[in-house]
Amino acid sequence: MTNTNHYDYIIAGAGASGLSLAWHISNSPLSKKRILVVDSDFSISNEKTWCFWHRDTPEFSDLIFKSWSTAEVGIKDEVLSQPLEQYPYYCIRSGDYREFILSKLRAHPSFDLIESDIADIKGDKNRPLLETEDSTFSADYIFQSCFIPPEFRSTNIKYPLIQSFLGYEIETPDTVFNSDSFMLMDFDNTYETGLAFMYVLPWTDKSALVEYTLFDSRIRKKDFFEKKVEVYLSNKYGLKRIDYRVVRKEYGEIPMQDLPYVPWYSERVLNLGRSGGLTKPTTGYTFTNIHEHSKEIVAELLNSGQPALPGRSSFRYRAYDLWLLHILHENPYDALRIFEILFSKNKIDQIFKFLDEENALFEDFKIMGSLPYTPFFKAIWKSGDRLFQI
Ligand SMILES: Cc1cc2nc3c(=O)[nH]c(=O)nc-3n(C[C@H](O)[C@H](O)[C@H](O)COP(=O)(O)OP(=O)(O)OC[C@H]3O[C@@H](n4cnc5c(N)ncnc54)[C@H](O)[C@@H]3O)c2cc1C
Repeated sequence: MTNTNHYDYIIAGAGASGLSLAWHISNSPLSKKRILVVDSDFSISNEKTWCFWHRDTPEFSDLIFKSWSTAEVGIKDEVLSQPLEQYPYYCIRSGDYREFILSKLRAHPSFDLIESDIADIKGDKNRPLLETEDSTFSADYIFQSCFIPPEFRSTNIKYPLIQSFLGYEIETPDTVFNSDSFMLMDFDNTYETGLAFMYVLPWTDKSALVEYTLFDSRIRKKDFFEKKVEVYLSNKYGLKRIDYRVVRKEYGEIPMQDLPYVPWYSERVLNLGRSGGLTKPTTGYTFTNIHEHSKEIVAELLNSGQPALPGRSSFRYRAYDLWLLHILHENPYDALRIFEILFSKNKIDQIFKFLDEENALFEDFKIMGSLPYTPFFKAIWKSGDRLFQI
């Protein structure tokens, strides 16, 4: 049976993951299929700066807005500066990414784009359905990043942490920044209910994104972050409010939680991106995992006709993440100490590799062995059987 509202694949949500999948499909033999992409808003804006580290040439390398091969970490009054010999740090702006991919999809005969709110997505063993206000579409598979899986809400989350952040993108008339290096974490020792740090991405010597970030279970008002950014700009760079122009503000909230693994939203509806659990719970980084998953989906559809499920961390990395979530949630002072020691005793390249979950066991031992044991022993004991539920 064919009708005009049936597609081979529907991509529900054209954010980081939906567009990544569309892009990978458009560059593969699957581009002969009929594909529908639906999002409530296709407008272009650089509201997110996606940063990531990468060993080889990263995906979308033409879109890289800025890269750094030196990273800094601020611990108490000291700044540790390290070259990134293996894992340079990159930044892609969400508007550039969107514009680039959408312009390709718009010119592609296999892709239809519909700008509309998605009211519902219903699973089915043959033809899952996507409903907008005025139409219903069916597909062989739907790939969705619009809705949080209900299991994420119904599960008994033990550590309901949120990474919240607000940044000012500023411009200054005079030279202020060293754009060769970026500040990964400049810890705020005065913050007590969670872990807090400043994140600084200098674009040029006269412009930067300066962001205050919290790992906390409580959400603060935006003016709390703004004050922190302004005080930092004053203390660190001697900039008063009249010395810079705020070009843009960036605010975000990313759950850092002990979520269960939920690859399917419903029958033949696969979760992508954040909905697919691709956010690393202890860092919030998601972007690199998204592209890995898109590549795997395309490869597996070509190979078997079925999509690859979102990647799942191995048991030991799930354990490390859970224990650190426990420490962040229960004892932020210990968490701060762990982060400070982690960066003082290990190279950032090694930490990035560890966070990519690519280490050999002995390399993990080296990193874990550099950290204080007691908070982890407590976390192992107190996190109980949660490890076996996620
Ligand atoms: C401000 C910010 C900065 C971040 N920076 C980084 C970073 O530097 N590095 C990193 O690795 N991760 C980062 N993340 C985390 C993660 O990479 C992003 O959240 C990423 O956008 C997740 O991709 P996604 O496809 O799951 O969701 P999104 O990119 O949010 O895409 C979801 C799409 O679904 C659409 N949609 C939602 N509901 C509906 C509906 N009912 N109908 C129609 N359309 C709908 C939305 O319009 C959106 O386009 C950041 C997150 C935020 C919020």
